[in-house]
Amino acid sequence: MPKIPDLARAGRRRAKLDGMGSSGAPMGATSGQGRQAGGTPRAALADLLAGNRRFVSGQPVHGHDVTAAAAASGDQQPYAVVLGCIDSRVPLEAIFDQTFGAICVIRTGGHVLDRAVCGSIEYVVGQLGVPLVMVLGHERCGAVQATVEALRTGQRPGGSLAHLVDEIAPAVTEAGLDDPAVQPLAIRRHVRRTVRTLREDYLLAGPVAAGRVAVVGGLYDLATGEVALLDPG
Ligand SMILES: [Zn+2]
Repeated sequence: MPKIPDLARAGRRRAKLDGMGSSGAPMGATSGQGRQAGGTPRAALADLLAGNRRFVSGQPVHGHDVTAAAAASGDQQPYAVVLGCIDSRVPLEAIFDQTFGAICVIRTGGHVLDRAVCGSIEYVVGQLGVPLVMVLGHERCGAVQATVEALRTGQRPGGSLAHLVDEIAPAVTEAGLDDPAVQPLAIRRHVRRTVRTLREDYLLAGPVAAGRVAVVGGLYDLATGEVALLDPG
């Protein structure tokens, strides 16, 4: 399990991030859905994983009805941001049993980063004070499989799909294109590479180094619904 900084003593103090303004919503001014966790990376991760356990056990507590929407209609105070794949089998709010206002969600094919994704994460961390970023890959990811095929055939797709392949390709190459298990290996490597890239993001690196923000990687099992944390590798 990745090491999560224990910021319990600093717990209720809203982190003011290096080099980031604080012109977003008033800090701690409302009792939003996302502040139960206390504002530390460790507590946020515990809350997120607890939600996944509720989902897996068939005992979710959050319905997605209009009353939940109304309850969260004030200022938002999410406690985590999850970057996942667009795969229709991996609906992030559902698998973490999260209600409206609790987490921010970003989804791209193979959770590939681009400037819009990085800017969105920088906003959530810097302006909303979110202490946890999770990158969530999943088994049998079509984007990774497409990259494996592209590298094996030498046929790079056209259009913007090429961007996804180009961004995933280093993980496939590292895993070994000839390895029979290249796809599951590449999926894990791609999560870890994405985590490392975000930890080095120029607006996130300082807060990450100071322990105020954690970036962790996870893997979703399509069949069981379980999220397992990946060690940094
Ligand atoms: Zn996928």
